[in-house]
Amino acid sequence: MYNGFSETCTGEICSNPLCYRCILSDRKRDLQMFIQKKILKTCGADPSFHLKYENLPVGLKNLGATCYMNTVLQCLYFTPSFKQHIYSVEVKENTLFQLQKMYASLQYGIRKDYDPKAFADSLNLTTGIQQDVQEFFLLFLSYLEGIDERLKKMVNELFLGVQVYENFCSVCNWKSEGVSNFQQLSVHLDGNSIEECMDQSFCKVEQLFDFPCPDCKNTSVGRRGKIKNLPTILNIHLMRFVYDPSLHAKYKVHKKISFGKTLDLSTVYEGGSPGEPDCLYTLYSVICHYGETANSGHYVAFVLEEGATTSSWNFFDDISVKKYSSFPFPLPAGTQLTPYILMYKKQQFKEDKSGAHTAPKELVESIQRESEQFLDDIKKFKFTSNLIKDKLEAGYLQYREVYANLAPVDEKYYWINAVWLKKWCRQEEPISEPINNSEILCEHDKLSFNLNKMKKISKLAWAYFVENYGGGPVFTKGSACRECALDFWDRAKALAGKFEIKASLTKACKKKPSIFKDNDLLHFYASREW
Ligand SMILES: [Zn+2]
Ligand SMILES: [Zn+2]
Ligand SMILES: [Zn+2]
Repeated sequence: MYNGFSETCTGEICSNPLCYRCILSDRKRDLQMFIQKKILKTCGADPSFHLKYENLPVGLKNLGATCYMNTVLQCLYFTPSFKQHIYSVEVKENTLFQLQKMYASLQYGIRKDYDPKAFADSLNLTTGIQQDVQEFFLLFLSYLEGIDERLKKMVNELFLGVQVYENFCSVCNWKSEGVSNFQQLSVHLDGNSIEECMDQSFCKVEQLFDFPCPDCKNTSVGRRGKIKNLPTILNIHLMRFVYDPSLHAKYKVHKKISFGKTLDLSTVYEGGSPGEPDCLYTLYSVICHYGETANSGHYVAFVLEEGATTSSWNFFDDISVKKYSSFPFPLPAGTQLTPYILMYKKQQFKEDKSGAHTAPKELVESIQRESEQFLDDIKKFKFTSNLIKDKLEAGYLQYREVYANLAPVDEKYYWINAVWLKKWCRQEEPISEPINNSEILCEHDKLSFNLNKMKKISKLAWAYFVENYGGGPVFTKGSACRECALDFWDRAKALAGKFEIKASLTKACKKKPSIFKDNDLLHFYASREW
């Protein structure tokens, strides 16, 4: 007789009613994991996960492949004069309303992520298809221009530049001039720095081979250009995606182009002289691309956040936002990101950096109401999840207590269905089935002799089970079926003669019907009368 575990116990429920080795769990329950699962199932996800971090701007949710849209929206959000104009225009149209709402949420909200679905829907964007961020940027600006005259004026004031180009014949001195507007300068990667690339794009004479001179008919016409009007905000598009006619496809130029915090445009500005204040620009946004084609891969943005006194660089990767206290360029070696769009701001352009740009009052109020609701949800979640946690932890403590005290400590004991007990012991999650002792009834409706199906347990354990799970019937000392016991004794006596059994056991067998046996009749246990 062993109290706790039997040496012959193999792991399957054994026939020693005081062996618990075969029913106890071999691993500890992961209570915290279960609590988390239970809370998730009952209360849903923890809303406080979405609470905004102090001093970190809000990220934008990716709707499938809308990282291109998110980067442009963040760059424009951190262009204070753009934001202020968006706020100040009377809303007559949904996209503008959605943009106002989004920017107001980024500014006044307390969530760390914003879902731009309504905005994307207002533009009829297919959110699962990626676009070239450069194309989207231009399309978006022209869309804004189409909404409202004041927005058109704003886009022009901020982004519009004018370039002049001169076509000239190197043989007969024929020449002609033209002008064109731009909101973005597309620059070939013909240099190692942004300055070199700009110079190459503007100062280098481009031969127009399929344009013969109107006067002398020689194919001797060249073109050179200059910037005539400098934009307030200069978007430089690094032409990384180059069409290869032999492949009928674009390939990406991964070449590294260096750039600094400031850019002097005097060499490409008509009549400009080096260091001229009008030609000096400050970098404030860099949209980077990751991947092989403009319509695939991923876009992220580094954006300068200028406060009244301090400024810092934010890194936007959809909902994930990071802060850099210093200039994050050049990117660390090995980084797969390639700068694609650089946004510069004229140094002479004085923007209001106080952050006092105010969204329409109704919007601010509605965001405040949403925030209150959100905080309320967090409070409710905390309350309910704490209740669940406390209850489960208390239940677990009780479980451990009973688990450690299964064995009877005195003469008082109860019989219990070992299969049920095993299930209770090994529960990964709390079980709710009542005790099913009807499975250990014999054919005479009394406690059977099927020792592989039953265990003896303490009074404490039984009381706990009945209170928490219900069920029955109660079997205790004296519940055993007399008829089965006598039958069992007869068979045991007969067997005792066939096997070599210790003398003491044989003696016990002959004395009283107090022999337990296995189903396979290999093991015998002697015990006190039960
Ligand atoms: Zn056992
Ligand atoms: Zn000519
Ligand atoms: Zn019976």
